[in-house]
Amino acid sequence: MKNKVFLQTYGCQMNKLDATLVTEALKQAGYGLTDSIKDADIVLINTCSVRRHAEEKVLSHLGHLRHLKENKPALVVGVIGCMAQRLGAELLKSKAVDIVCGPTQIPQITGLINETLLQKQKSIAVTRQVRRKVSAKQSLALEEFEFAYDTDDKQLPNQAFVRVMHGCNKFCTYCIVPYVRGPEVSRPPKAIIEQIKKLADRGVKLVTLLGQAVNSYKYTAGEKTYCLADLLYMAAEVEGVEWIRFVTSYPAEEFFGQICQVMAGSPKVCKYLHMPAQSGSDKILKAMNRRYTAARYLNLLDRAKSIVPALTVAGDFIVGFPGESENDFAATVELLKKAQYKNCFIFKYSPRPDTVAEKKLPDDVPLEVKRKRNVELLAVQEKISGELSSQFLNKKVKVLVEGLSKKPHLNAEDKIDQPQLIGRTAEDRIVVFNGPRDLAGRFANVKITKTSPLTLFGELTKI
Ligand code: SAM
Ligand code: SF4
Repeated sequence: MKNKVFLQTYGCQMNKLDATLVTEALKQAGYGLTDSIKDADIVLINTCSVRRHAEEKVLSHLGHLRHLKENKPALVVGVIGCMAQRLGAELLKSKAVDIVCGPTQIPQITGLINETLLQKQKSIAVTRQVRRKVSAKQSLALEEFEFAYDTDDKQLPNQAFVRVMHGCNKFCTYCIVPYVRGPEVSRPPKAIIEQIKKLADRGVKLVTLLGQAVNSYKYTAGEKTYCLADLLYMAAEVEGVEWIRFVTSYPAEEFFGQICQVMAGSPKVCKYLHMPAQSGSDKILKAMNRRYTAARYLNLLDRAKSIVPALTVAGDFIVGFPGESENDFAATVELLKKAQYKNCFIFKYSPRPDTVAEKKLPDDVPLEVKRKRNVELLAVQEKISGELSSQFLNKKVKVLVEGLSKKPHLNAEDKIDQPQLIGRTAEDRIVVFNGPRDLAGRFANVKITKTSPLTLFGELTKI
């Protein structure tokens, strides 16, 4: 009988993509998958280190697993992803953990599981010098692993993520990513496009290109250096793919104009830009080692909106970064108002081990102040989101349907023919409407009848 794996993922889209890759590798190696931790022979936890809270959730999960193992000693537990790289052998000291595997070693995961099952001993694969360029062998292994990516029923139907680059070289002073995911490495454009073609053959209609600073993508082959704009252009040529998004953009001049031009010129490239500002205060931006000022950030947005008039923007902010005064926070509120984001992710600063901020800047904004600023900024954003949403009232939008709404009462037996569905527009707006469940994975047109800051509600219509 097949050994069954339960895989739990925390964190960002990169992690979700890793989870899909691991799932595929496990299936190919003959493992079964289960949604029930009780039925599992192997539990894998795909971890995130970006904020302390994310790590705390994993540690508490490991506590539960330790108890579970007391009754089921044969259970194998593996920690993969960013926390595995950050804590390495430290994690193996826990009775709960048998396998530790960092993001660059992810192609080895099935080998590590086999080894642990056979030899009944703990195993670890992490990088000693994470900032060193990966070896040609490792790079090939990662490329092969990436290419095996396939659609599976855990993903949204007919949607896929495609990583265009690994790692990050920006070294924002608060951020742990460069220390756990290593240096920026752009994947060959040929491999990326081949992968997109393969996905399109499987019916994928929306492809999201992923990179930590995705607009830094740069790959030289012979005489030509490819940038993200080239990739978008080539991806748009792939038959079957209808929408292409890319996240996350770093506010930088390089390639910016070209990327906006492809967005404006290609109907397949979604008019959506997720470009975090992090702060609106030049003093804080400098301390964060973000390489722009608030004025330059807003100038980039203006340029983008002049090239792509219907552009929708989303952002991220950190509140309570060391040294953030009331005036600095007021500058953030100002920038947020000017940028007119569709939505924003707002985080309370949390010091991450070994980052420059953690080592050099005291975490001097009290938690209550961080909380207060978080709530305040969210409230300002909610008002803007509400105003922007209301402009959709009585308009028709095209959505790619994701599936059933998660609210079960809206999909009860009496609504069986027309349950409540969720879809998203090309610009990532959430749309809720009633319709047949077999619309999942297909495009639909919806007339908007009601709006809220983050959701549009409507009725299914013909074009
Ligand atoms: N590479 C992307 C970027 O630069 O926008 C995303 C990086 S990170 C996975 C996602 C977000 O987490 C960041 O945009 C930032 O707002 C937030 N973040 C990163 N480190 C943080 C920290 N130490 N404390 C609080 N928020 C943090
Ligand atoms: Fe972290 Fe900055 Fe890189 Fe984003 S760009 S992953 S915030 S270091």
